[in-house]
Amino acid sequence: MMPGSERNNMKKSRKKKIIPAVIILAVLVLVLAVIIFAVQRKRGISDDFSWDSYRGGELERPELDVQLLTPNEYSRPQIALNQINGIVIHYTANPGASAQDNRNYFENLQNGSSGTHASSHFIVGLDGEIIQCIPSTEISYASNDRNTDTLAIECCHPDETGEFTDETYDSLVYLTAWLCLNFDVDPDQVIRHYDITGKDCPKYFVEHEDAWERFIADVKSTIEGA
Ligand SMILES: [Zn+2]
Repeated sequence: MMPGSERNNMKKSRKKKIIPAVIILAVLVLVLAVIIFAVQRKRGISDDFSWDSYRGGELERPELDVQLLTPNEYSRPQIALNQINGIVIHYTANPGASAQDNRNYFENLQNGSSGTHASSHFIVGLDGEIIQCIPSTEISYASNDRNTDTLAIECCHPDETGEFTDETYDSLVYLTAWLCLNFDVDPDQVIRHYDITGKDCPKYFVEHEDAWERFIADVKSTIEGA
């Protein structure tokens, strides 16, 4: 058995070793936190990307699955979007692919092997789910000359006709209405990719003018009912 005084001495020396270790650990954690904060700031995903910055309008925010792309020159160049004058509707031209598939496609463009520049702020899936890929403070690569002053919404579709499912359609109407309210965009400034470049996008709304007009009417009535 160890005499009491020796046991106390051992405790004291252990304490002496533990205290500096705790201080070193605390300093390391602090340094790490500062580094992470600095990196986040540089990527522009700290305080300038906050849902608090959205005014919300009179509509509740739709459920958004925020999966921001890794910053890269092909799909998220982090160029500031300084004004939002319109909202551009697209279709993915990828029948049956999910919102997640399309988000992953944008994410993988960063390896540069295809040389393709493409992305979208939002993707509406076949079940109406919405993935956000780019903050509203940055441009996406979706709408050619209008990348610099619009938000882009890509929509999934089950087949070659490009027609949206009811779930996709309803979700798109609500998201568009909510964005109009949030960013003071006149619903008449909701346009098709076709209206910018003449491209057959979103296919169903280009080939069915009446469906497009109905869509805009549905957006307006959602806003008015808010
Ligand atoms: Zn398009």
